[in-house]
Amino acid sequence: MKLKFLGAARQVTGSMYMLSLDNGYNILIDCGMDYEVKKNPVERPNLFPFEPVDIDLVLLTHAHIDHSGNLPALVHQGFSGHIICTPATAELSEYLLFDSANIQFHDYRKNLARAKKGRRDSIAKPLFTEKNVKQCVEQFLTLKLNIPFEVNPSVSIKFLEAGHLLGAASIEITVKENGKTTKVGFSGDLGRSNSKLVRNGEIFHDADYLITESTYGGRKHIVEKSAEDELLNYIQKTCVEFRGRLVIPAFSVGRTQAIVFTINQLKKNGLIPDWLKVFVDSPLAIKSTPVYERHAYLLNQEAHNFMQEHGSLFNFEGIEYLENMSEHDELMNYYDPCIIISAAGMVEGGRIQEHVMNNIENPYSTILIAGFCAEGTLGHRLLLGQSTIRIKNQDKNVYAQIAKTDVYSSHPDHDEVYSYIVRTAENSIKAGKKLKKVFLVHGEEPQLRAMQKSLEELGNVESVLPTMDEVFELHGS
Ligand SMILES: [Zn+2]
Repeated sequence: MKLKFLGAARQVTGSMYMLSLDNGYNILIDCGMDYEVKKNPVERPNLFPFEPVDIDLVLLTHAHIDHSGNLPALVHQGFSGHIICTPATAELSEYLLFDSANIQFHDYRKNLARAKKGRRDSIAKPLFTEKNVKQCVEQFLTLKLNIPFEVNPSVSIKFLEAGHLLGAASIEITVKENGKTTKVGFSGDLGRSNSKLVRNGEIFHDADYLITESTYGGRKHIVEKSAEDELLNYIQKTCVEFRGRLVIPAFSVGRTQAIVFTINQLKKNGLIPDWLKVFVDSPLAIKSTPVYERHAYLLNQEAHNFMQEHGSLFNFEGIEYLENMSEHDELMNYYDPCIIISAAGMVEGGRIQEHVMNNIENPYSTILIAGFCAEGTLGHRLLLGQSTIRIKNQDKNVYAQIAKTDVYSSHPDHDEVYSYIVRTAENSIKAGKKLKKVFLVHGEEPQLRAMQKSLEELGNVESVLPTMDEVFELHGS
């Protein structure tokens, strides 16, 4: 059997790996959009360096676009098999993929309108349409966590809790060929322990090979307080003492729900005043929030206890979810102290840009960045601490407080990934096996190298940093 790295190799986005059995059966694990292709150009005339029709099965770890975003294009280009994922991932992916099709369509229209005559043919067309998403969603087949599923006599799979996002799974693939059995574990994206809402991730029991993310290799999350204490501090200072607005850019799926749940906890504990309004200005958050309550069995004990005592996790007195633009426009003219949560998380596009524009010159406002912001994004530029900033072709003075918190990070830091790998290797030994190789992916090269260095110091786990399109032969035992 061969394992080929088709994405997220020495970079973070574009997760895609192919397992090819000796009998010609091809499994694709994730099919994500590559946001870094401009920075690290790959010599590829097509989106896929293979014929989509040759893929027999797709396994999807979770709904984030850098793992799922090229699925509609794969289907459009001829893949007609099943896409297996958890039920929550299927629902969240559907919303995220429709949203992605919509964004691509509007960006295309905007770029076309801006392009000079004669140059319009050079404008990149959307990678897929809503019609392609509809077709793609029909090919989803759902499988719950921890239920082994025999795909065919040679291949069986099992999903394990990854602890990263609702429905996110690590995938164990067992291949039987040539009289030998090989177990390959794909971590997908992992989470931190004791995250808001989601449970802690599980470890593979007897893996021969591990393909794991190492997004924050070499880095340590600075978390000195609980999410409640951290958020309460900003709410007290900004909304209560200064009577200002707290603007939180947040991804619509995952981060928004974690923040809203924290505010609900603070409200129920009587720690923030009743008069303080909370606005969630994101249509995608409105669609995806009920998925959390529909799949409450995936939530952690803290969330379960809260639901039992108070009912809803995300609805409380004083919260408003804004769907249409007229409600958004009304909020732009709302000047009382409040909390505004809006997408996108890196402040690139979406309604949040307007809220940042509206508050950046207000010394009573705080803009709280609650997640990773890639270089070049408005979120990243805000964190550089400049006194003026250009937003939507306007120069703005930065009078608002700009703050950052790591408490909602949905990826583990160096020590947590290291511990994950060590525990996986220990489990394999307990099962009478050896973890033969660890492939480090989904991280920039310095992050992957830092993890590799720690593993080298440990001595008994061999690690590899695969490059794009590199192929490895895997051997069973
Ligand atoms: Zn993810």
